[in-house]
Amino acid sequence: MTVSTLLPCPFCGGAPRMLHGGPGNWFVQCVDCKAASNDVGEEHAYTLWNARANDLKQLHREVITLRLQVATVEARQASTARDKARRALARIRAQQQQLTDGAAERVQAQDPDQQE
Ligand SMILES: [Zn+2]
Repeated sequence: MTVSTLLPCPFCGGAPRMLHGGPGNWFVQCVDCKAASNDVGEEHAYTLWNARANDLKQLHREVITLRLQVATVEARQASTARDKARRALARIRAQQQQLTDGAAERVQAQDPDQQE
């Protein structure tokens, strides 16, 4: 197995490298952020590193999916709230118009010049 089969660092995307940690012990470490796998046998270090990279990639996908669902619900709620506010505004304007029309009719009724 070569270093090229190691997946990029799940935390920063940096390049991984296999390091010797002592007799029979190896670990994979990111050259950029220094994140590392456990100190185990060489093959196991590859497996651990790539499994974590794949797990985090899957978690990122799930987080993106959930964020999309939350944003969709929030957009729907905002749309509902906007529609409700527009209906309330229309009701209030209608009431205001009725009051204005009623006041004009009363003024007309009291003005003798307007009555013939
Ligand atoms: Zn890194």
